[in-house]
Order: sequence, then C-alpha cells, then structure tokens
Amino acid sequence: MKKRTFIKLASTAGAGMLIAPLASCGGSNPADAPKVKGSKTRPFLYEQEPLGYDFSALSPAIDPITMEVHYGKHHAGYVAKLNRALRSAEGALDNLTLIELLKSLKPGDTALRNNGGGHYNHTLYWRTLTPGGAPEPEGNLKQELEDTFGSLDAFQTEFSTAAATRFGSGWAWLMRDSDGALKVTSTPNQDNPLMSGIAESTGTPLLGIDVWEHAYYLNYQNNRKAYITAFMERINWDVVASNDLT
Ligand code: MN
Repeated sequence: MKKRTFIKLASTAGAGMLIAPLASCGGSNPADAPKVKGSKTRPFLYEQEPLGYDFSALSPAIDPITMEVHYGKHHAGYVAKLNRALRSAEGALDNLTLIELLKSLKPGDTALRNNGGGHYNHTLYWRTLTPGGAPEPEGNLKQELEDTFGSLDAFQTEFSTAAATRFGSGWAWLMRDSDGALKVTSTPNQDNPLMSGIAESTGTPLLGIDVWEHAYYLNYQNNRKAYITAFMERINWDVVASNDLT
C-alpha cells in the first residue's frame, strides 16, 4: 500500500466501519485495525480482521490446529477483553487509533495493556506471515539490514536469539527506534515497542514473532528454536517493509 493511502486509512479509522482484509490491504502496521460500531455509549469497538489465508496455509511451519486455536481463541479473546476494557474506560479513548491508544498507556493500565497489545501484536503477526514466504528481504530494507547488522545472516541470528531467549511469554521484534535506526528487541507478555510509557525500547514494530507457548507448543513442544526457524521461512518481507511508517 502506498504511504499516502495508508495515512488516509489510519486517520479515518475512527470514522466508522472499516474492514481491511489482508489481501486488499497489502500489509501495513495495524493503525487501521478495524473497528465496528458498538453502542451509543461506546461507539467504536475492535474486531478481528479476516485471516487472509486458511488455517492450514502455513503448514507444516505452523500447524492448522495451532492456527485455529491461536486466531480463533487466543487472539479473539484479546479482542473481546479489549472491548470490555474500553467499555469501562474514559470516552476520550474513542478517538484514538489502536497505535495512539498503545502509545498513551501507563504501566498500570493492565487490561488495555495486555489486550490492546494482544490485539495489535496478533494483527501484525497474521499480516506478516504468508503461505509462500520469502527467504529474505529485498531492496532498501535488505540494504539497511545489512548495513545495521553486518549481514542478513547476522540479523537473522540476532532476531532468532532475541526470540529464543525471551524468558517466559512475550515477543521479539525488528523495530525502527525513535532515532530512526533498525533494532532487534523483545518484550514480555503482550507489550510492544509502541508502548512508550512501558517498553524499554520504543519505536515502530516492523516484524514480530510470538513466542508464547500457545504459538508453537502443539507442534514443537519445548523446541522453540524449531518454531522460530520455521517462522523465519514464512515471512512476507513486502509487508515488513510496508510496516515502516517513517
Ligand atoms: Mn499469541
């Protein structure tokens, strides 16, 4: 998606029904995460966007049952709880995009932090995966990864290590930090780099891998590294590049 189109989508996200299926969107940072009409007192609520591919489409890297439970139960649960939290929050939140909401959070905003983060992170995750995959990025992003990390292999090693060593549940990220540099980082639970009042490294997430056990345990059991390797072969690098809002 062209940046101008994206900005328009992002700025109108609170204006009403906005469903952006993955295929038509072409990938973007989920500032345009769809909202649906709610009630008079809470006009806009979030909903999951369509997955864009079948539950079996990423197999054998990610098995169909994991996909079905992860998308249909875990992610759906974050969305339901986010909407519940929004119903009891101050009305001013209605005018915020999901990105703006996450940037505004304080550490004690537990329900919005866990479930707003959960919704954002999973939306990005589904969008960034693709049945075809692509072994490596191209163009400007490839060049910048090489310049920043030394080589694509070095980037992959750093990203995989961040994912493998995240203790407990969380995410590893390729992000653009507030100084404009690419960086690999990780966050616990459903935190992400947008949470400037919470995360150690803040910026724009470009690529995120979910390393909660629910993302891989059925197929890989305790072998998180095998899941990470499989994930790296299913990345849609065009989407990763389009997540770069700078
Ligand atoms: Mn998950």
